[in-house]
Amino acid sequence: MEIAEKIKIIAEHYGYEAQSRQCIEEMAELMQAINKLWRSIGHGQLTEKSFKECLENLTEEMADVQIMLWQIEYLLSAENMIEEMIEKKLNRQLKRIEEE
Ligand SMILES: [Mg+2]
Repeated sequence: MEIAEKIKIIAEHYGYEAQSRQCIEEMAELMQAINKLWRSIGHGQLTEKSFKECLENLTEEMADVQIMLWQIEYLLSAENMIEEMIEKKLNRQLKRIEEE
């Protein structure tokens, strides 16, 4: 089964309200994971093991948020709008870089 099909089934099962709430929780976990990696780097105590743990935690939380965003995008039928917006923002940023 394709990722998009799995996203659709899960999103339809739980619905927008539950998944938008879940998304907020997952975003908070992602913020903590980013912070945790910063902190361990900042303290200069980053062993290979703790870096690996932080990275695993970060990728897990990134995946959680991405999964929630895909579901919300699907539930709002906003796929095309988001794709256009991403294109627009990336182009604007690339233009800024060129102008630097
Ligand atoms: Mg999570």
